[in-house]
Amino acid sequence: MDLSYLSSNASVMAKYRDLKQPDDKVQCMYVWIDGSGENMRAKTRTLNFVPKSVEELPIWDFDGSSTGQSEGSNADVYLKPVAIYKDPFRGANNKLILCETISYDKKPNFANKRASCAEVMKKVADSQPWFGIEQEYSLLSGKNGINKHPLGWPENGFLAPQGPYYCGVGAHRAFGRDVVEAHYRACMYAGIPISGENAEVMPSQWEFQVGPSEGINAGDDVWMARFILERVAEDFGIAVTFDPKLISGDWNGAGAHTNFSTKAMRGPGGIKHIEEAIEHLRVNHTAHISNYDPKGGADNVRRLTGRHETGSYDQFSAGVANRGASVRIPRRVFDQGFGYLEDRRPASNCDPYVVTEYLVRSSILKEKL
Ligand code: ADP
Ligand code: MN
Ligand code: MN
Ligand code: MN
Ligand code: MN
Repeated sequence: MDLSYLSSNASVMAKYRDLKQPDDKVQCMYVWIDGSGENMRAKTRTLNFVPKSVEELPIWDFDGSSTGQSEGSNADVYLKPVAIYKDPFRGANNKLILCETISYDKKPNFANKRASCAEVMKKVADSQPWFGIEQEYSLLSGKNGINKHPLGWPENGFLAPQGPYYCGVGAHRAFGRDVVEAHYRACMYAGIPISGENAEVMPSQWEFQVGPSEGINAGDDVWMARFILERVAEDFGIAVTFDPKLISGDWNGAGAHTNFSTKAMRGPGGIKHIEEAIEHLRVNHTAHISNYDPKGGADNVRRLTGRHETGSYDQFSAGVANRGASVRIPRRVFDQGFGYLEDRRPASNCDPYVVTEYLVRSSILKEKL
């Protein structure tokens, strides 16, 4: 389908983007997670001041019946600002405002997984939990993304088997690098602690890493990094998918490996605390799997097959340098005797608020989940 008539025109746009914005007018794009628990929405309002903290920002609302978050007869859902980022798209003093959603009864909307995560993070603040999340995703050709066709794949048939694509270079191995580069810089500009990127095992699949971020910031930073990715790709006429198993068969799925540590794990003798945490994760394996994708574990059944560098969804395993396990202790960490563990189970479309909350409830609060 030719969608070129929908294209934006960069040179025409530049004329408007270069118009001087009044100093006392700030565009604030409020961003939130919709009823799917995966997709994000955004809308903008003008403020007459440059916001420095979320407390200064007005609570807003939106039509929740159009986002799967409420009934039409009682449609309004509140947007409560929780984090401010610089806006890499509009530049200047403009902001991206990450929000949590609050229902008419002033309770967190069902799609708001942040509220309970924030409570748990407050409880364990003394342990200083850090999270480094490796966000994998795939690029789709065609801005409608309708046919779920990976960017750069032939219209019919398949590419040469996976092998040369991971961290690959060359036009026949790396598809969509401009999106990756633009996203990296846009995240840095926004104030997200993006720590790296790489091309993944399946061609047109990529990864970026966020963190380590402490406590609730981990979820905030990953969600905003996802929003920026979709928005950057939109500029290129490319769609992003976080489907954890886009192509069945001999192609790697996509995850959101979550690297996790506490103050004790990062200190001398920390390996003992890492091994202890792993035993708590083992006991709660089933509860973690049910909460590591937005479909109660069903998405991860497709991905965690025990093949393609995954552990099996129905069996917990752990090991040093083992990329076929549920949880891996990086070799470097084992050698030095302290550091962090890697939970390899979260799916690429997981809610990082849920994943970080469950890690903390299992391993720090030692809850039986
Ligand atoms: P992999 O070898 O699994 O591909 P990556 O290099 O992609 O690992 O990601 C490692 C992640 O671990 C990074 O996001 C990094 O910020 C994070 N990380 C490093 N040290 C810690 C730590 N002490 N606690 C939590 N996360 C950490
Ligand atoms: Mn309206
Ligand atoms: Mn990685
Ligand atoms: Mn990876
Ligand atoms: Mn990893």
